[in-house]
Amino acid sequence: MEIKGSRIESLRKDLSRLLGGGKVRTEPEDLLAYSSDATRYYAQGKPEAVVLAESVDDVCKLLRYANQYAVPVTPRGAGSGLSGGSTPIKGGIVLDMKRMNKILEISKGNMTARAESGVVLANFHRAVEKERLFYPPDPQSMDVCTLGGNVACRAGGPRGVKYGTTPNYVLGLEAVLPDGSVMNTGGISVKQANGYNITQILTGSEGTLAVITKVNLRLLTLPPDRKTLIIVCDSAQLAAEMVSRIIYEGVMPSVLEYLEVGAIWLMNTYSPIPVAQDGQVYLLIELDGTAAVIAEDIGMIKSLSEKMGAREVKIIEDKKQADGIWKARKNLSPLILRIFQKSISEDVTVPRDRIPEMVRAVREIGALLGVPTGMSGHAGDGNIHPGVQLYEITPEMEQKAEEAIRLMIEKGIELGGTISGEHGIGLHKSAYIEKELGKAQIELMKRIKYAFDPKGIMNPGKIWTEA
Ligand SMILES: Cc1cc2nc3c(=O)[nH]c(=O)nc-3n(C[C@H](O)[C@H](O)[C@H](O)COP(=O)(O)OP(=O)(O)OC[C@H]3O[C@@H](n4cnc5c(N)ncnc54)[C@H](O)[C@@H]3O)c2cc1C
Repeated sequence: MEIKGSRIESLRKDLSRLLGGGKVRTEPEDLLAYSSDATRYYAQGKPEAVVLAESVDDVCKLLRYANQYAVPVTPRGAGSGLSGGSTPIKGGIVLDMKRMNKILEISKGNMTARAESGVVLANFHRAVEKERLFYPPDPQSMDVCTLGGNVACRAGGPRGVKYGTTPNYVLGLEAVLPDGSVMNTGGISVKQANGYNITQILTGSEGTLAVITKVNLRLLTLPPDRKTLIIVCDSAQLAAEMVSRIIYEGVMPSVLEYLEVGAIWLMNTYSPIPVAQDGQVYLLIELDGTAAVIAEDIGMIKSLSEKMGAREVKIIEDKKQADGIWKARKNLSPLILRIFQKSISEDVTVPRDRIPEMVRAVREIGALLGVPTGMSGHAGDGNIHPGVQLYEITPEMEQKAEEAIRLMIEKGIELGGTISGEHGIGLHKSAYIEKELGKAQIELMKRIKYAFDPKGIMNPGKIWTEA
């Protein structure tokens, strides 16, 4: 096979011959649909072909071909990423993994599961929960995002505070290297000490090293009960201080979200039973476990809230209201876009005890630059998702937004935090990673990349900026 003439036409012919025409897309509207991830307002890059893989064999054949002709390959799950990770900025082939969507095994005895990487997370949740098992990672995009995308980005979500994030559950992977060879890393044992931890190198590799085709995941037992409560605070400072104190006092909520009153207002436009807007900042909490443990935790939270001066603790007894609140929380990002033309949600994450300083800094940055800022996030793990929202997209406001984001990221690093707690670096944070990790570590990452991908075909232009 040879790439000659129009690249798109050559790729269409070659890939159709290699994989079958039904798996290859080169029409302009298809290429446009794959030109960015959920950060559509940022840089885009048109692919020259899209491949919808149906088997490991398809992935092997495709990578062997791309490697031979040095064609860039950008793996893609649902494209729900918020860092530009699956945006094909160097053109080439976007490899869509969503057709590889079988759950292969759920083992109650071993409490593990094996699935193809294109399985949608919410489908996986439903399947394991039928067996009274529990897979905690819960990015709010769970109705669309894929297990492979979650592993590749080290995705988190609200339950990270108690249960950790995706990397804590990955036991092993099947992955295809750029030369087309298949490897199985790790396994299904809950402990492994078998040399370099290649599973965890691939976890968070953002499609830059290999294509993940199968995942082996650890499961827990489904908690028997849950309860939702809301602590209403009159100041951001108090709410931020309460986050650390609740956990220090021995209560480990399964979810601990920090929401400003504007977020509650937006959520009320969506949920059937609204929450009274009688405070400035709300801590939306879910407790899980046995009924007795939950009751004890509620007692602790009530007495702490009283001691620290919170306005009220609302226990949401009505299941319909609780479900409505969590559904609205899950849809907060799209709800924001009903009001604003553009919303940039950052995932700078700081140590929990530095949240009060981060909250103060975000508000000061907004006031300094005259841009609306907001915070609504997984505060229990230090990830308050500071963001900038624009009523109107003008060059002046865009510039101010960019500056505000830069200042927030720098503040996060200064407070001992990280530039990304769960979205990954992709394109949009690549200018900052060296500042956090230092030159030596980036050089080591580049050498690791070279060992996996000597021709540099895998998702080029991501994680670090090119010299
Ligand atoms: C409304 C909304 C809410 C969100 N909430 C959260 C949240 O709470 N927590 C959170 O962590 N994230 C959240 N996200 C971000 C996003 O959903 C996650 O990063 C998710 O893990 C991306 O999965 P995906 O399947 O869409 O991957 P994609 O966006 O398609 O890809 C993401 C990265 O993974 C790589 N990749 C994808 N599949 C593979 C594979 N099989 N092999 C190798 N590399 C691969 C891609 O190349 C890319 O670099 C949210 C996004 C939206 C739009």
